[in-house]
Amino acid sequence: MSNMRRGRLSSDVIESVRVATDIVELVSQYVNLKRSGSSLKGLCPFHGEKTPSFYVRQDRQMYYCFGCQRGGDPFRFVMEHDGVSFTEAVRLLGQRAGIVVETSSEDSGHDGLYAVAEAAAKFFTEALHGSEGERVRAYLAQRGITRSTAERFRLGAAPAAWDRLSLALRDDGVAEETLVQLGLAARRKGGDGVYDVFRDRLMFPIQSLSGRVIGFGGRILPGPETGDAPKYLNSVDSPIYHKGKVLYGLAEARAAIRRADSAIITEGYMDALSLTQAGVEHVVAACGTAFGPAQAALLHRYSHRAYILGDSDSAGRRASVRAAGLLLEHGFLVHIVELPSGYDPDAFVREHGGAAMATRVREAPGYIAHMKLLVDRRAGALAVKERVVRHLLADLGRISDPVLQELYAKELARSFGLSETTVAAGLTQRKTPSATVQDVSTRSADTEPASVAVRAARRGLLRIGLANRADAARVTSELEAPDFGGGLERRLFEAIETAGADGHWRDHAADRDTDSLGSELEFEGAPPGDPEQLLRDYRATLLAARLDKTGADLSRRLAEAEARDDAEAADRLLAEKSILARDRSELRRPPSSS
Ligand SMILES: [Zn+2]
Repeated sequence: MSNMRRGRLSSDVIESVRVATDIVELVSQYVNLKRSGSSLKGLCPFHGEKTPSFYVRQDRQMYYCFGCQRGGDPFRFVMEHDGVSFTEAVRLLGQRAGIVVETSSEDSGHDGLYAVAEAAAKFFTEALHGSEGERVRAYLAQRGITRSTAERFRLGAAPAAWDRLSLALRDDGVAEETLVQLGLAARRKGGDGVYDVFRDRLMFPIQSLSGRVIGFGGRILPGPETGDAPKYLNSVDSPIYHKGKVLYGLAEARAAIRRADSAIITEGYMDALSLTQAGVEHVVAACGTAFGPAQAALLHRYSHRAYILGDSDSAGRRASVRAAGLLLEHGFLVHIVELPSGYDPDAFVREHGGAAMATRVREAPGYIAHMKLLVDRRAGALAVKERVVRHLLADLGRISDPVLQELYAKELARSFGLSETTVAAGLTQRKTPSATVQDVSTRSADTEPASVAVRAARRGLLRIGLANRADAARVTSELEAPDFGGGLERRLFEAIETAGADGHWRDHAADRDTDSLGSELEFEGAPPGDPEQLLRDYRATLLAARLDKTGADLSRRLAEAEARDDAEAADRLLAEKSILARDRSELRRPPSSS
């Protein structure tokens, strides 16, 4: 399992980026850090909190949050923060430090696609501010979008012609195939040449979290020859763009989302734009799709409270309720913002301003209260009430966090005048095991239960090993992976063992749970006491557990041998047992005094 996360990057490159990067400098860009003993602490950028539990240690170049139990090194920080791969994190940190990271992996194959998407974005922006952009500029003016908002979101104009973009990019040496792959052009019927997909439209470039253009949305301009063309057109999925995994505006909005400790989810690009312009900046939009699970998971990194702000028509309401269920499943506190009928978010903001919108959002009822309001409006309809309660029970059944689920269940009972027992029974009936969301409290769960002493010894040894490299070598040379069970502790042991002398165990711990456990233990430091003595005691505990396990195994095989009257096997197993018993009793004896 070597070099699991390194991919195709050379270790020299990783090393030079590592040396050139400082965790405090990096984290300080996003978190206000204050000194606290030998560490610095601040509000965790990965979960909403009011009192700091996010710690950074400069001496160890690591961070750990006691609130969400996530931790790692600078690479992990960028991976989590920007939602990128390890390779991409190295590239981004390299960029900061002025180190060119050549990626020979498929990422660099995509560099070409990113460059073309960027070139297209530039083409559209230039078109917007040139003579061809007149109609789009007029449209933006009519919608009250200022020039600075247009620039901030890099809005553009697709000319009203069949091949202006294709020709311009082909002149720059871009292959037709690439344009088709990015959904910017389509092949002509008959197969000869391509034509532009986006024509006579207002263009919204969609950016990745690291700020690269990856796709586009295009809104048709109102006019006589609009015909039956779709109002919005979106890029097709490509190797660099996956609609379901991107939220429009998140790169821009994430700092505001952290500050507000909540996110507003809208349907359209224009909604996101006009809210931001009106000073309500913690807003994102799904990119021309229904809000999906990957988007919920992405947003959950920045906030655990979501305000769904849809249109006030019935399609908008249905979409809101569907999104609410999904957000609950992902552990969000969900609110639904209702607008007066006939308004969409953009229209509301233009008419009433940002402050009025902010108030609407702030005072928006929680999901259950919202559903109760809807029911109350149809007074007396018991059938409606019953259907809504069953729907809510189904949604609450999807919440994997038991605390959140119970809070919501209590609210459901209170709002709809049901007993808590009835609600609890309704929930148990519906409960289906969810394998998608991992419960933090069970993340170190092992396949076999281990005693308290064994668990303490495993963690103690890992703490010693993580605190200093010389001791790590002793821990790994005297014990074996199975001594650490079958869960995260074992994966961490294996990572430390594989890293060996260079000590960069994180490069060998591919998953973030192992990384987080390692950070937690590294943060705790070596247990207090004489390290020699501790090493001996912990080692003895684990060896004893190992022998006990072998002993239990021997007893089982002995019973089997006796059951089938196999005297020869029974004798051999008995002999093994007695040797084992001797080894075991020696372990119990106090270490010979030195
Ligand atoms: Zn946290």
